[in-house]
Amino acid sequence: MPRPRSAEIQAELGKLLGRGAVGPARTAYLTDATERRGIKGSADAVALPATTEEVAGIVAWCYEHEVPIVPRGGGTGFAAGAVPLDGGVVLGLERMTRVRDFEPLLWRICVEAGLSTAEVRRLARENGLFFPPDPGAAEQSQIGGNIATNAGGPHAFKYGATGAWVTGLEAVVPPGEVVEIGGAVRKDVAGYDLKSLLIGSEGTLGVITAAWLKLLPAPEATLPVIAFHAGAEAGCRAIAGVLGAGLTVAALEYLDGGALDAAGGSFPGGIPEGAGFMVIAEADGTKADAERVQRQLVEAVGIDALAVRAPTRRREVEALWRWRDGVSIAIEARRGGKVSEDIVVPLDRIQEAIEETAAIGERHRLEACSWGHAGDGNLHSTFLVAPDDDGELERARRAAEELFELAVRLGGSISGEHGIGWLKRGQLARQWPARALELHEAVKRVFDPKGLLNPGKKIAAL
Ligand SMILES: Cc1cc2nc3c(=O)[nH]c(=O)nc-3n(C[C@H](O)[C@H](O)[C@H](O)COP(=O)(O)OP(=O)(O)OC[C@H]3O[C@@H](n4cnc5c(N)ncnc54)[C@H](O)[C@@H]3O)c2cc1C
Repeated sequence: MPRPRSAEIQAELGKLLGRGAVGPARTAYLTDATERRGIKGSADAVALPATTEEVAGIVAWCYEHEVPIVPRGGGTGFAAGAVPLDGGVVLGLERMTRVRDFEPLLWRICVEAGLSTAEVRRLARENGLFFPPDPGAAEQSQIGGNIATNAGGPHAFKYGATGAWVTGLEAVVPPGEVVEIGGAVRKDVAGYDLKSLLIGSEGTLGVITAAWLKLLPAPEATLPVIAFHAGAEAGCRAIAGVLGAGLTVAALEYLDGGALDAAGGSFPGGIPEGAGFMVIAEADGTKADAERVQRQLVEAVGIDALAVRAPTRRREVEALWRWRDGVSIAIEARRGGKVSEDIVVPLDRIQEAIEETAAIGERHRLEACSWGHAGDGNLHSTFLVAPDDDGELERARRAAEELFELAVRLGGSISGEHGIGWLKRGQLARQWPARALELHEAVKRVFDPKGLLNPGKKIAAL
């Protein structure tokens, strides 16, 4: 069946949603955080439904007329997952922001997919609770996007990634049906774990419209320790020391020398002379527990350190994490663009991965650095580029291929938190056996037999 023209798609979807909610695709809906890598799509229409029924109506119409559907959250993804690369309809969830149910005394909330991550965290905080997932672009990213990518963040070390906090999902699946899986229940082992299949599915299996989330009572205190080391060797010894000492910290982060060079200028309190590696560890819990662990951390990360800081004032702690949220943007600003991957390796291979990232950059004549979630072995291995320099972009693409090869060789994975999206399509074949790849593609066909949900994304093998 020939695909309807853009004007017809807009007119037909306009009848379902009302005209103001459907229009031609504007640039803001054609890119995500990969824009400076030169990735931009094109679409026939943008549809902004306000209800689950409207989402179901769009999916049903598109499915019947063979029109691709690209679910879109806040557009902060690093894998071009929300970029429409085969035309069709961008289905933005931004108008679906209702809190459907909130029971602070039962530590749970049910929200629509378009609510921002920051708003979920704020609602929890204002009620003495805590929603732990803390991906860095929280003001812009949406809870639906976080679930669709199973987003992590610094505190995933202790608390797990977003999926660990989802007890139920409402989603629209092809050919346009609403399914509810799980709910307010905290445990549920009936049936295959379809909820977990949708978590991290990057818009390729269904459109998430609402989620039931677990919350926790907010920790009484959060007390970080920041250690500066001369280089990766001493820094990684400090990281291993925290684990070896059995300290249950909430976050365990690092920046290598290149990342410190690019982002350290705005670090509250400044970076000491000679520092080539930073470790951030955070203790949380009751005030007494957090203070005890903070003292132990000072010792654990202090071995061979050039300097150790242990802020205690709330203002200082907030300033630290605000700065940490801005690290990715500060590093990108250095040359205007970056090719940044999110490989993950076993903890005993992290120093090797950090040093190899720098070596790969050198081999490809690119400025390289890394930072990330050390406790999870999750590196943001990054090559800095000028966005208008095609030669550099091509060298960075080849450097990224080497990085994926490195991750698999070290026993790790090509993606720890950003997903496969379009950028890493086919790369899963590096690390999964043939039968597992077949099952991966078979799952896609069961949910989406016509292949219209986010086509070209999360492809296991090319
Ligand atoms: C400065 C910065 C810092 C970041 N830090 C982190 C970090 O610490 N940890 C981390 O994991 N990520 C991080 N990210 C990446 C990004 O914020 C996360 O991947 C986030 O979860 C994406 O959410 P989004 O709403 O922006 O989704 P989008 O970018 O809009 O979409 C991402 C994918 O999810 C799909 N999708 C979106 N909404 C839905 C839905 N409702 N139903 C079905 N599919 C959907 C899209 O089709 C796409 O495939 C960072 C990004 C930036 C720019």
